[in-house]
Amino acid sequence: MEHREVLVLGGGPAGSTTAAFLAACGHDVLLLDKARFPRDKACSEYASPSSIHVLDALGVRRAYDAAGPMRLLGMDIISPGGSSFRVEYNEGGERRHALALSRDRLDPLLLDNARRLGVEVREGVRARRLLLEGGRACGAVVTGPDGREERIRAKLVVGADGLFSVVARDLGVRSEMRWPRRLGLVGHYEGAAPLAAHGEMHVQPHGYCGIAPLDGGLFSVGMALDMRRYRSSTRSREALFDEALRMFPLLSERLRGGRRIKPVSGVGPIARKVSRTQGDGWALVGDAAGFTDPFTGEGIYRALRGGELLADTASAALRAGDASASRLAPYVVARRDAFRYKALVVLAVQAFVSYPCLLEYVSPRMLERPAVRATLSSVLGDLTDARRALHPRFLLGVLRP
Ligand SMILES: Cc1cc2nc3c(=O)[nH]c(=O)nc-3n(C[C@H](O)[C@H](O)[C@H](O)COP(=O)(O)OP(=O)(O)OC[C@H]3O[C@@H](n4cnc5c(N)ncnc54)[C@H](O)[C@@H]3O)c2cc1C
Repeated sequence: MEHREVLVLGGGPAGSTTAAFLAACGHDVLLLDKARFPRDKACSEYASPSSIHVLDALGVRRAYDAAGPMRLLGMDIISPGGSSFRVEYNEGGERRHALALSRDRLDPLLLDNARRLGVEVREGVRARRLLLEGGRACGAVVTGPDGREERIRAKLVVGADGLFSVVARDLGVRSEMRWPRRLGLVGHYEGAAPLAAHGEMHVQPHGYCGIAPLDGGLFSVGMALDMRRYRSSTRSREALFDEALRMFPLLSERLRGGRRIKPVSGVGPIARKVSRTQGDGWALVGDAAGFTDPFTGEGIYRALRGGELLADTASAALRAGDASASRLAPYVVARRDAFRYKALVVLAVQAFVSYPCLLEYVSPRMLERPAVRATLSSVLGDLTDARRALHPRFLLGVLRP
């Protein structure tokens, strides 16, 4: 049986970031992913502006810039009635931009960086189940490309294995959220009417659809649709996507003349939560630690920043020779400080997306109130304390007639 110090399951942004930071601190890290990269991932692929700080800390900024990301200054939010307002990212009044790089490029770039820092990466290896001894995680049972089962022991197991995390499942900490319940579908287009520096988010009663420019002259078109309409559907993702697209007339018009270049990717229901993010010998990060909805576009940032926070705590715990729940507890506090208030803002935004009459009400008001828009934009971009968007003065600014 193989023995390692850290076993990271999942090589998306959360896993590769956690692994890279731990390896940079001198830890022995093995990372496994069931896929071979580049792999398919349902994602609209723009990362909120603060992601750049983690990319800097990882030392991948130059490689990232060389990959040619698009820079998005903001998003136009378009209500069912066609009224719209623009959120533009800013930090203390200075313009910032979100970054749009296809996951085909971003994820391998982050994984290569982890390798460069000393992480051993094995692709095509699937975690089947967690190894537990007396309630403590001590490794995983995995199968490689030849289908052979193998046990790998580790002092710390990191579950970075996404929405359907095997680690969270085996620990019994994962559940679906009752609300929102959406099916996510993403298509990639070329040759559609150009969008320059802003994406668009079109909201309709049954869901919303966003379009954003990507590297290589492509566009990602991502939808989140009311799951009740589609749960029992046996149609292909492409058929569901085309049918749903017809319900976004302005967007359909924009895509006229464009060509979808890849199969549609999808996942649902998207929203998951976990009751804990750490325990004896284990920790969860990225989507494996819970995810609500892509409308506010912070999943990649949370994966990157979560990886950075986990590596800080885990490195200290491993150096002390004790990856117990209590040694890993600072990770919970760090996550709470970093994500708790934004999570509340995300839920508040969900109310406006789920009940578009609310959006219809606030849309013209947002247009007239640049200060309120600026606060919302910087909170959505993870550029300021999210509590600013929960303050009664801000809420009054949004809602007053
Ligand atoms: C429709 C949709 C649109 C989105 N759009 C955006 C957006 O525009 N911007 C944004 O920031 N976020 C967006 N997100 C969210 C974003 O994609 C995720 O938050 C982000 O990918 C999380 O990264 P991760 O590393 O935690 O998980 P993932 O990127 O899902 O990586 C998990 C990895 O674990 C591997 N894995 C899974 N199970 C196993 C196993 N048993 N054994 C081994 N490996 C395993 C997978 O192969 C995968 O590589 C969107 C999500 C959806 C559903």
